Amino acid sequence: MTTTITSHHFLSTCSVLGSVLDLEGGFKQDKRHHPVLQAACYLIWELKLSQMMRSKNSNKHYFTKMGSRKKVHAFVRVRPTDDFAHEMIKYRDDNKTIDIHLKKDSRRGVVNNQQTDWSFKLDRVLHDASQDLVYETVAKDVVSQALNGFNGTIMCYGQTGAGKTYTMTGATESYKHRGILPRALQQVFKMIEERPTHAITVRVSYLEIYNESLFDLLSTLPYVGPSVTPMTIVENPQGVFIKGLSVHLTSQEEDAFSLLFEGETNRIIASHTMNKNSSRSHCIFTIYVEARSRTLSDEKYVTSKINLVDLAGSERLGKSRSEGRVLKEATYINKSLSFLEQAIIALGDQKRDHIPFRQCKLTHALKDSLGGNCNMVLVTNIYGEAAQLEETLSSLRFASRMKLVTTEPTVNEKYDAERMVRNLEKELALLKQELAIHDSLANRTLVNYDPMDEIQIAEINSQVRRYLEGTLEEIDIINLRQIQEVFNQFRVVLSQQEQEVESTLRRKYTLIDKNDYAAISAVQKAGLVDADGHLVGEPDGQGFGLGVAPFSTKPGKKSKSKKMFKEQLSSSARKEGASSPLSGKDLDVSTSKTQLTPSSKDGDVKDMVVRDRETSNTEPLASDSPKEELRPPRPSTPPAKPVAFEDFKNERGSEINRIFKENKSILNERRKRASETTQRINAIKREIDMTKEALNLQKSLREKQGEYENKGLMIIDEEEFLLILKLKDLKKQYRTEYQDLRDLRAEIQYCQHLVDQCRHRLLTEFDIWYNESFFVPEDLQMAVKPGGSIRPGMMPLSKIVSLGEDDQDRFSQLQQTTLPEGPDSVSFYNAKVKMEQKHNYLKTMMGLQQAHRK
Ligand code: ADP
Ligand code: MG
Repeated sequence: MTTTITSHHFLSTCSVLGSVLDLEGGFKQDKRHHPVLQAACYLIWELKLSQMMRSKNSNKHYFTKMGSRKKVHAFVRVRPTDDFAHEMIKYRDDNKTIDIHLKKDSRRGVVNNQQTDWSFKLDRVLHDASQDLVYETVAKDVVSQALNGFNGTIMCYGQTGAGKTYTMTGATESYKHRGILPRALQQVFKMIEERPTHAITVRVSYLEIYNESLFDLLSTLPYVGPSVTPMTIVENPQGVFIKGLSVHLTSQEEDAFSLLFEGETNRIIASHTMNKNSSRSHCIFTIYVEARSRTLSDEKYVTSKINLVDLAGSERLGKSRSEGRVLKEATYINKSLSFLEQAIIALGDQKRDHIPFRQCKLTHALKDSLGGNCNMVLVTNIYGEAAQLEETLSSLRFASRMKLVTTEPTVNEKYDAERMVRNLEKELALLKQELAIHDSLANRTLVNYDPMDEIQIAEINSQVRRYLEGTLEEIDIINLRQIQEVFNQFRVVLSQQEQEVESTLRRKYTLIDKNDYAAISAVQKAGLVDADGHLVGEPDGQGFGLGVAPFSTKPGKKSKSKKMFKEQLSSSARKEGASSPLSGKDLDVSTSKTQLTPSSKDGDVKDMVVRDRETSNTEPLASDSPKEELRPPRPSTPPAKPVAFEDFKNERGSEINRIFKENKSILNERRKRASETTQRINAIKREIDMTKEALNLQKSLREKQGEYENKGLMIIDEEEFLLILKLKDLKKQYRTEYQDLRDLRAEIQYCQHLVDQCRHRLLTEFDIWYNESFFVPEDLQMAVKPGGSIRPGMMPLSKIVSLGEDDQDRFSQLQQTTLPEGPDSVSFYNAKVKMEQKHNYLKTMMGLQQAHRK
């Protein structure tokens, strides 16, 4: 079939496709000229074309789909002779099996148990076959697959004179009797003609291997440069190639034939002049094909090579006509054939993973063909005369071994990196042009899309800083790159500020990493934090605890009266000027990543003294102070809480109160300073703005009056210069003040923490004191106190009340009912009541804890 693709062809295909796509993809037929649809048409057209080719050429279906392993195809071709050994060589009707029968020679006394019959089943026996049939059977599919990117190898094997050269090259003087080689070249060029959608190049080389030496049979051509001697076989990921072997581009059939004949002539001449026995050389003619689609991307292309191998004569050594010899494996005259056979035996053995390819030049050169990714065919030439039976047998054995070898044909797809870069560059240039058009339409002519340099990045960094400081209202969006860089710089500035804050804190306080257990335990030992990581007091007696608030003060568990009192207290606190509302919330320092402990050198928080850990933070403060002992007798009705609170602040709570006040005054002082600094900053900012305005005015004046330039340097007057200096100075001031403000803010935050904790502690201690002083019966206090860890004042009021009603009653009841048993029982019952009270208390605590967790 000769296919010429005309535009008519193409359009009719498109039209068919258009209708198909109408049905399947919803495209309208009249939209087939849309670029996407057109590309799809091309693609499907190409697929169709290659499908057509394949179906046309796959009448024998020797080759299965790519990627799967398949066996080497082995054929036998019998050289016609008048003296054909009909009795010894028999073909079966399947055209595949050949039977050999050896006549027993009684005179030679052949041992009876010797094997005399062999049967070889191959892919086809070519007996009396024309060159045409041989090509169709053996080579056609391999060649057509090569144009799809599959490598192919066709090898002729057999004894000298069996017809290898006849099969491979054929009679050079007769077209009719031309062999596989010229026919393959013809098919390649014909297929190129049939495939106008592809740009296909063909190159050829002709290599001879004689006595482990490599010869370039095409080196005599005038345009071949000085040959690299000696030639070497090189392996790379793409496969095996011969360094120094000339490879010739051929654009048409005729050129290719010329090269073939040149090679043939050289082969004969060389055998004479160099006294080579031509039957002992291997010849490899290679056709290299490279196909690029004209319609699809030119970045991807397929390559393949077809190796056409005419092997040296396979005759063995020690040709004696003894029948015993026939049964033994004799050695090849040509050593490399024995290596070839070894490689083939190894390839056919599934268990072997090492194949000895590099033992000789032949197997090394054919490494990627034998058992590689190619379609492989073997033609075994036999000479059907009785005298040649021994060689015939060993040739057929070789063929059956070859049949066990499998290969894995794959398409050689390659990417042209240079073309890809070129195409991308083209596209980039096009897109830049497009962008320029868009910009000019949108009046954005000065936008630059190049990557940013250091100066531009620094400018963005400063913009971000100014934006964060509030001196820049907004950051103008220019392009994507700039937006990305703004985000980047945000990250940079943020991490810098984090570091700055941390280092400021480190200068003021000792920071301990929460995960640094060693440091925490050291601090705990020193009594600066308790087990939960909360700050505790110093042991100098005058301090107070900043410990955990007792559960009774936690939110949600307050009695009504207490709530009312809190409200009163908070209003009085507001009157005092405390800015933050009173809160019973537990201020947990440990929620921050690092813990703060006052550093001894710090003046501001020096007097925030903390108490020794041994004095548990649940113990009443200064419980052993003389004031406690001088406590007046308990009144019959408890005083109002606000009044009691005043008393508490003057008496037992005086220390906490003093520290609370001190902290508050420190906090207020810092706040004042911060507000002053803020005012100063604002003033500086205003001045900066004014100076900037003045400077701009100067600048525009200068521009209006015309600029003076001296050797490229701008000349500005003194006034403008002074303004610039002033601006610089102001900016410096601004930065210093800003830094101060930041430091102050960090301090304020910390002081606020301390104040809150003090307030909390004050209230907690007051609650405990109030309960102890006015509610918990004194004898009960006495009873519980020796236990140490339980303070009756800590019990919730409701519980205290219930204790008064129930337990108290029960206690007196017990005393009344059991006392008669004897005074000895008192301590027993006392202990019992204490135990019950303790149990009660623990139960209540647990209940509270659970409620808190919820
Ligand atoms: P080899 O290359 O195996 O040594 P050749 O191809 O040189 O053998 O063949 C030896 C001779 O036999 C040549 O003269 C060749 O023309 C002839 N010959 C071989 N096979 C055939 C065939 N199938 N038909 C006709 N002549 C053949
Ligand atoms: Mg030959």
